[in-house]
Amino acid sequence: MSVPVLGFPVTRVEKSRINEIDPANIQFGKHYSDHMLLARYEDGEWKQPEIVPFGNLSLSPATTFMHYGQAIFEGVKAYKDPQGNPVIFRPYDNLKRMNISAKRMAMPEVPEEIFVEGMKQLVELDKDWIPTSEGTSLYIRPFMVATDEFIGVKPAEKFLFIIITSPAGPYYSKPVSIYVQDKYVRAFPGGIGFTKAAGNYGMSMYPTLEIRKMGYDQILWTDGFEHKYVQEIGTMNVFFVIGDTVVTPNITETILEGVTRDSVLTLLREKGITVEERPLSIDEIEAAYQQGQLREAFGTGTAASIAPIAKLTYHEDEMELPPLETWKVANWLKEELAAIRYCRKPDNHGWIVKV
Ligand SMILES: *Cc1c(COP(=O)(O)O)cnc(C)c1O
Repeated sequence: MSVPVLGFPVTRVEKSRINEIDPANIQFGKHYSDHMLLARYEDGEWKQPEIVPFGNLSLSPATTFMHYGQAIFEGVKAYKDPQGNPVIFRPYDNLKRMNISAKRMAMPEVPEEIFVEGMKQLVELDKDWIPTSEGTSLYIRPFMVATDEFIGVKPAEKFLFIIITSPAGPYYSKPVSIYVQDKYVRAFPGGIGFTKAAGNYGMSMYPTLEIRKMGYDQILWTDGFEHKYVQEIGTMNVFFVIGDTVVTPNITETILEGVTRDSVLTLLREKGITVEERPLSIDEIEAAYQQGQLREAFGTGTAASIAPIAKLTYHEDEMELPPLETWKVANWLKEELAAIRYCRKPDNHGWIVKV
């Protein structure tokens, strides 16, 4: 039975699974809310999207994305304001990036009505799934895959766009330890490093396994020519506080331009803190460490928000960052971002979108 609620036709679950989550112990990516949004692209156009109960898909084993990786995704978060109304953080920025990824991967652009309006409708429908304690949120995962039933290699003509949501607790429970990678490469000029393509993640699993065995959490990726300039950590943008200056690598086609990165840069500049977006070499980081000038280092991303780095290892050189309590920048940013996201502070940037 389909009942149009706000915009798109909705088939509601008969019984909510909300009881399966324990609000006091929410793990990232473990549970999915009751509904999902599905939109098909065929014959050169988007068909009527619909919201249906979360559940398995039935796909031909010949479906192209399973073989050739034409697949992209986004990560967005919803929160509740103090009155309990759902809000979404910067979804238009994710839409823009989704479509940058889509273009590079020869996939159709997703219209705003499907991406943002569909997301709002889905979040409204499943708003009971938005946890409210500090550090929690509803993680929203929009993604698109190529669905031609054809194992010949060619750009696909049929696509499926889906949004699922998942109640999320903190991503990392403690500061991360990082290994500086100079054997494998995440991205190279002319490649797809600036997109959120599934393949960027697939290729990172083996290098990540290697460093996990050595006791590290994440990789600090370096450039593909000299392994000299730092790029990103794992799936986050990276910031270093050197003396009183905050430095982050400038955006090139080998770096994913994070929404959190942009939010952080905006807040730091407004606060009057000196920020530099420029090439940053591992040699410069080591020198700053030796001079006692490396005060803080952290990753930024939607899933983890601000992820402090406890230790950075480059070859034999182990750089231990000062204790987290002494950090001024990262701790302030984390609090400031949370205050905006949970609507405890006015939103002066147009980042908060009401559902
Ligand atoms: C998603 C992602 C980020 C962070 O982007 P946000 O928009 O802040 O979530 C950074 N680097 C990579 C490689 C990513 O995939």
